[in-house]
Amino acid sequence: MYAAALEQGFTPATVIDHLDAAISTPQGGWTPEDEHVNGPTIILRAALRTSSNRAAVRVLDQIGIGRAVQFAESVGVERMPSVPSLALGSGEVTLENLVMAYMPFAAGGFTRKPTGIRRVEDERGTVLYEADSSARRVISETTAFLMADMLQDVVDSGTAARARGEGFRLPAAGKTGTTNDFADAWFVGFTPHLLAGVWVGLDRPQTILPRGFAGDLVVPLWARFMRMATRGDKADWYVPPANIVRVPICRISGQRAGLGCDGAPVVNGIGEVEFQSSVYNEYFVAGTEPIDECQVHRGVFLDRLLASESTQIPVEPPDTVRPPDSVPILPDPPFPPPTAEPLPPTGPSAEDAPQPKRRSFLARLFGLGRGEKPKK
Ligand SMILES: [Zn+2]
Repeated sequence: MYAAALEQGFTPATVIDHLDAAISTPQGGWTPEDEHVNGPTIILRAALRTSSNRAAVRVLDQIGIGRAVQFAESVGVERMPSVPSLALGSGEVTLENLVMAYMPFAAGGFTRKPTGIRRVEDERGTVLYEADSSARRVISETTAFLMADMLQDVVDSGTAARARGEGFRLPAAGKTGTTNDFADAWFVGFTPHLLAGVWVGLDRPQTILPRGFAGDLVVPLWARFMRMATRGDKADWYVPPANIVRVPICRISGQRAGLGCDGAPVVNGIGEVEFQSSVYNEYFVAGTEPIDECQVHRGVFLDRLLASESTQIPVEPPDTVRPPDSVPILPDPPFPPPTAEPLPPTGPSAEDAPQPKRRSFLARLFGLGRGEKPKK
């Protein structure tokens, strides 16, 4: 469904808004339960990473259920119900169907029929059967690349982050799924060379575990399989297609990063305000990248500009200004100015010339006077 949205001109930085609004259905307004999102807006990339139910339903609402069903069928997922909860996976699919749905993201936009048997030959090597291995393009190369790149966040820092905890290190992408009542949990993930899906559930659907999210139940199984299956593989990733550009973006506004976005105030987990950069580099199909600079953080930059100007002219309250008489005054200048002392006469007598001031100072300082013992 996110892929269908990209094919229709959405970008990874498209802001999905009104997340708190109800979706109209024939049964009335409906707001899906959401474990992941609280704010009213989210960019598409973050929605996918956090598996935001509300964002998914909003996107489906915007692209149209008909198109989403059509798209699902084109990638091999058939008999989808035309209802808003389709966005959350309310259609029943087999694991094979689900894995097929991710194949175009893993294979540059192409899909193939799954096969159990590639070829049958008789004892003389005559081919009796050969599986249809022809690839069919279902999405553009750019959509496939953007999907793979966004789904990489899911594994690195999203709902499938436990894959890394299991020691699976190769660049990879994927998506978790957890159905209502925690009756099914699945994960489909891939490297550029291997695509695999795992499903956990019971024969008669019922809650597997209370709050048994796929990220906890399924992702570790997938990661253990992948770790062994890809042992010795090199770390590689998809090369961006020629018409993909990379632009610094503000993750809050989805607009081009402006001067205030690198130190934007963010309320952290314990309710304190922190200043963080909201800038990251995003891929776009050339021509779809945002033009306008972030409007959300423009004020942050102006505030900071004013603050930095005021620090150039320090203004101290009067009572902290130190009165002049409290400035410590040295009892004696360390050395008298050169003109205060006549030049010592030349010749051997010069060493014996009295230099009381200087001697007394050095004597005070070192307890000695010019290499001699003090006179007393
Ligand atoms: Zn910004």
